[in-house]
Amino acid sequence: MPLFSSEALVLRTYRLGEADRIVVFLTSDRGKKRGVAKGARRTRSRFLGALEPFTCVHVSYYERENRDLVRVSEVETVRSPLAARDLGSLNYIGYFAELVDECAQEADPNERLYRLGASIVEAMVSGVSIERLARYFEYWLLRLQGVYPPAIACHECEAALEDGGAWISAREGMFLCPSCGELREGLRLSALSIRFLHDASRIGPADLEEISWSIQISRELEAAHSSLIATHLDKELRSMRVMRELQN
Ligand SMILES: [Zn+2]
Repeated sequence: MPLFSSEALVLRTYRLGEADRIVVFLTSDRGKKRGVAKGARRTRSRFLGALEPFTCVHVSYYERENRDLVRVSEVETVRSPLAARDLGSLNYIGYFAELVDECAQEADPNERLYRLGASIVEAMVSGVSIERLARYFEYWLLRLQGVYPPAIACHECEAALEDGGAWISAREGMFLCPSCGELREGLRLSALSIRFLHDASRIGPADLEEISWSIQISRELEAAHSSLIATHLDKELRSMRVMRELQN
């Protein structure tokens, strides 16, 4: 049985039998894995504390031939989101972990997704305010998933979007300038929100405290992102079902 070791992000766990847990984690190098953590539910388990969702860990696991489940041998906490300084952050842990879980594919290496998640945990612990961090995280997640385009410009006339704000189509995730977007279905983003996205595309999460921010930006982007995520994941889930049906 080959042994692998890497940095990973714990996404979720569920019970297995009397004393064990299944752990779902995103490795930095080999994609999402599912593994058995023996004895993880015992009070003196060696995994204690390290299996909370969205914890950055160092994990060692054995892969077994022709088995989807790996066997987790060691998990050591590198950084725990429970150490976040902004206490409101704790409410977001489950949401962040679930988003990564939905976007990560099994055994499909996605180092950028891992690095994004790990940088978010680091920013939480260093005290970056959670709302701007959440909007930043959603922006980058949607961008890595190919929902948000890399360039923040009008999809139709390619105009740069600045002073006039923009429309964003929740269905396609495309930006439209005020004149192209006028008659289309979409959500309005003010110039301030567009500015935030511009800044977010250029900086790391640790620098989020440096850029302009307001409640209005948070509300606008929260509405846009939740609708983009719902649309995108719906598609994902459908395609996963189709794939399963094709395999059976
Ligand atoms: Zn346009």
